[in-house]
Amino acid sequence: MKRYYPQGMDHAKFDQAVKELQQVVGEEWVFLDADTELQPYLDRMSAKPIDYRVPSVAVAAASVEEIQEVLKVARAYSLPLWSTGNGRNFAYGGPAVKQSGYVHLDLKRMNRIIEVNEDLAYAVVEPGVSYYQLYQHIQEKGYKLWIDCAAPGWGGLIGNAHEHGAGYTPYGDHFTFQNGAEVMLSDGSVVRTGPWAMSGSKTPHIVKYGYGPYLDGMFTQGNFGIITKAGFWLMPEPPAYKPFLFTYERDEDLHQIMEILRPLKINQVIPNSPLVEHGRYTCCVQANREDYWTERTPVPEHVWQQMYKDFDVGAWNVYGALYGTDETIAITWPMVKQALLSIPGARAFEQGDRPDNDVSWNYREKLMRGEPNMSEFAMVNWGGGGHLNFTPLTPSSGKHATTSYENMAKIFEKYGFDYLTEFVAAGRAQIHMLILAFDPNDEDERQRADACAREIILEAARLGFGELKANLEYMDLVASTYSNMDNGLAKLNQKLKDILDPAGILSPGKSGIWPSGWPDDQRGHQPDSSN
Ligand SMILES: Cc1cc2nc3c(=O)[nH]c(=O)nc-3n(C[C@H](O)[C@H](O)[C@H](O)COP(=O)(O)OP(=O)(O)OC[C@H]3O[C@@H](n4cnc5c(N)ncnc54)[C@H](O)[C@@H]3O)c2cc1C
Repeated sequence: MKRYYPQGMDHAKFDQAVKELQQVVGEEWVFLDADTELQPYLDRMSAKPIDYRVPSVAVAAASVEEIQEVLKVARAYSLPLWSTGNGRNFAYGGPAVKQSGYVHLDLKRMNRIIEVNEDLAYAVVEPGVSYYQLYQHIQEKGYKLWIDCAAPGWGGLIGNAHEHGAGYTPYGDHFTFQNGAEVMLSDGSVVRTGPWAMSGSKTPHIVKYGYGPYLDGMFTQGNFGIITKAGFWLMPEPPAYKPFLFTYERDEDLHQIMEILRPLKINQVIPNSPLVEHGRYTCCVQANREDYWTERTPVPEHVWQQMYKDFDVGAWNVYGALYGTDETIAITWPMVKQALLSIPGARAFEQGDRPDNDVSWNYREKLMRGEPNMSEFAMVNWGGGGHLNFTPLTPSSGKHATTSYENMAKIFEKYGFDYLTEFVAAGRAQIHMLILAFDPNDEDERQRADACAREIILEAARLGFGELKANLEYMDLVASTYSNMDNGLAKLNQKLKDILDPAGILSPGKSGIWPSGWPDDQRGHQPDSSN
């Protein structure tokens, strides 16, 4: 059996800790063998070898009480604990731990839907509740409510929202629609936030803040606590829903598309965040790369143009939707259509206009009304399985979108990768999504992907566009770009970390926040494995 150990830890001592963890959750929920049981906890999409981030052990806790007992063991033995919910954080590290040897605290078994309130339109869930699970529950009960999910439906509400994830209905900014969290601190104490802090509160999940500082944000993308429950607002099913697609012929149309979308989105004429998807992105969800281009060099422009024809898509493709009643949509649709058709060559498509086998229309239309699916995941095959996402935030303007689009294109070209990209037109700011697809089994491609990733992050920061999320490998780098006021944010995070987690056991290194005293030379190192 191949085993990994926490860095610098005596093996006999670690084995004793494992015995105690087995007593807490039961032997069948403690996984140790790196060759077999721990395989589901590895990340196969990153630019590091698969065996780079192997946990020493994975522990699947089923309750708040079990987590408290796991924390006792972790504190006693100084075990670094990496918590995940559904553990599907693919493109950012998947289920992997930050460093080999960490203990993976898997919360998938905590999958109770604690409440769905149809009248007040919210749900309260545990960390293991997936989008599919909540969707099915709502369907079974017949509630007139929509969820909002990320493109891969196997993700979870808590993990995704607390990782600043996004979806496609008007409730797409997931953390904005989170309301009230239950968090366990490293000493095992449990805190409830906002109005939920009051016992007997009648408003724990319908008012985001009650009295005192608003702390929920502190537990996003951080390592100050383990989220054990959270409330989320759900969207009442609207009487009418109208999805649409506009296609555009030229790369240069991006500028005008963004100028048109900004007022439509900021003024809530379009309630969800329209996706401005490049044709290359649309096609790579639907096509096999090898059917069009068998070289490992970037697909040439004339081949892309052929794909756009085959799939009847544009250089840019804007997916969005209107929500309301037939009467309200009858007023707003002509405005939206006129504005988005004002660019020469633009075409509009409504429900029923696309062929039945149009994969992109079909899955996007579902996502924009909160029906989970896995269709987009097909794009992971494009480069051979390697898949890294980047999320620079740019002001919503044609100028900034074009600058980001053009500058990033040069970096993809320099490193020899297909430039797969889209913008999420979220209102005042837009997320410039960049997808780096490569073959993780090819050493040269992995090294180029890693160098390309670092350059993307640094170039975005140079332009003033901070990343919204970071892959495990680039957390320190991204954190270092948020250095304003003499690294004021990093210093505050450090103070909070040291106060809230003095033993330094919760997700060390998450978002570039390390426990004080964690040696510099042990950040990113792999401890020895042993057979
Ligand atoms: C093709 C593709 C498409 C994607 N599309 C989208 C998309 O549309 N929208 C989007 O947002 N993302 C998208 N992603 C990224 C990612 O796959 C999703 O965000 C996914 O939902 C994250 O996995 P999860 O929900 O299981 O979260 P988890 O993996 O459970 O959690 C994510 C991280 O949050 C922390 N965490 C989780 N639970 C807890 C807890 N209880 N306490 C403390 N910390 C915790 C951990 O650090 C963990 O690593 C996409 C990825 C790919 C490859």
